[in-house]
Amino acid sequence: MESLIGSFRGERREAERQQVHDPLSGSLQGLCTSWKEPLVIPGPIIVGGGPSGLAVAACLRAKGIPSVVLERAHCIASLWQLKTYDRLRLHLPKKHCELPLTPFPSCFPTYPTKRQFVAYLEAYAREHGVRPRFNEAVVAAEYDEALGFWRVRTAATQGSPAEKREYLCRWLVAATGENAEAVAPELEGSADFGGPIVHTSSYKSGEAFRGKRVLVVGCGNSGMEVCLDLCNNAAKPTIVVRDSVHVLPREMLGLSTFGLAMWLLKWLPLRVVDALLLLLARLVLGNTAKFGLRRPRLGPLRLKALAGKTPVLDAGALALIKSQRIKVRPSGVKRLVKHGAEFADGAAEEFDAVILATGYRSNLPHWLKAKEVIEEKGGLGGGWKLGDKGLYALGFTKRGLLGVSLDASRIAGDIEECWKSQLEKIKVTSFTCSHAPSRRTSNFTK
Ligand SMILES: Cc1cc2nc3c(=O)[nH]c(=O)nc-3n(C[C@H](O)[C@H](O)[C@H](O)COP(=O)(O)OP(=O)(O)OC[C@H]3O[C@@H](n4cnc5c(N)ncnc54)[C@H](O)[C@@H]3O)c2cc1C
Repeated sequence: MESLIGSFRGERREAERQQVHDPLSGSLQGLCTSWKEPLVIPGPIIVGGGPSGLAVAACLRAKGIPSVVLERAHCIASLWQLKTYDRLRLHLPKKHCELPLTPFPSCFPTYPTKRQFVAYLEAYAREHGVRPRFNEAVVAAEYDEALGFWRVRTAATQGSPAEKREYLCRWLVAATGENAEAVAPELEGSADFGGPIVHTSSYKSGEAFRGKRVLVVGCGNSGMEVCLDLCNNAAKPTIVVRDSVHVLPREMLGLSTFGLAMWLLKWLPLRVVDALLLLLARLVLGNTAKFGLRRPRLGPLRLKALAGKTPVLDAGALALIKSQRIKVRPSGVKRLVKHGAEFADGAAEEFDAVILATGYRSNLPHWLKAKEVIEEKGGLGGGWKLGDKGLYALGFTKRGLLGVSLDASRIAGDIEECWKSQLEKIKVTSFTCSHAPSRRTSNFTK
């Protein structure tokens, strides 16, 4: 490790004095006398300590490559721990959601609860020695052409916000997720509305809304599940379904719909699988359009592939829509008024609270200074390896945890190749140095 660090030193300009740290061998802080100096990280920096960040750090460690994980929150998997509702379970069966190297415990149910998933992730981090640096948000990461390194700047999210740090690394893995920031549209009249307006990222349970008339804006998986939870807690939800939506049963023919689709895709083209899924959905659920849930023109898998729109996997809300315990409003909110809402079709209704199930967006454009790889909507279209500057991305391909697991192994494999060739170079150079007295002052051995 020391020689590798030395080699990085050799490649840096004299002006870039540095401090060195093997992140797996002790406290970073303990080794640093001043944060003002940039800190050279011999392995990759991983931005984000969610499932993606943990997965790639574990795969790297299994190959003997240390990494530093930077996480803005005070815990791992902050989306799951801090921003999701209590009744949440994995939407997909556990076998499609496990991270590389460690399966879920066999005693877990097919759809683990949020608590079980978080417990799995915590055990995973412990088992694979992943210890993120918490409360450190990456505010900018930029490739320094002259150095051939990524400059990663962070700011503390607790304590003094003025505490800023800079790291230098050869490999950067963006793992900040597709759900980094809540999207909460400012509805006209919000300031006049007399009740609470909350985003699903702050919603924990329907208990707080007992007996209340609640308008839920957005009909994705979260919107539907929040309605179900509200009903279970004796609240009266109305869901706004402005656009068309694919609702599929969570299971068909005794198999998970997701698993069935994956299996069919091995033999059949997307279009045909879509047609089969819709046929089965019609048999199981009936004509959802009758209840105000029109289906999009494109099939569920094609829509996901082309527009990234995830179908709703019904966890019980549809039955409540059919029995009208969940009311459906087929047009968008025009404005909120003191005691309710007016809709685009001219209807008006009284509400006590509004829940915005309006989704999330990536925050990549705010910190990753690599315009050429970031898409208009803030995603990364280029897969897991982006260009030839040591930039990788994990968790941005809209393939959920299954995609994360596959890409984490690929990224670790790719970095391993560079890491090995780096070590090889050092061995050769060290050998040459030790046989050439005139070059003994080389800083490789410092
Ligand atoms: C309600 C809900 C249910 C879901 N259910 C499933 C499911 O059943 N199956 C499935 O496959 N997927 C599901 N998903 C998708 C889910 O996003 C992924 O499964 C998973 O959380 C993605 O992991 P990730 O690490 O890529 O992103 P995240 O879990 O979002 O983790 C990213 C981490 O990066 C940190 N971060 C962000 N910006 C910065 C920064 N600038 N500096 C430092 N740290 C930063 C965040 O704090 C966070 O901890 C669900 C999503 C939601 C919202």
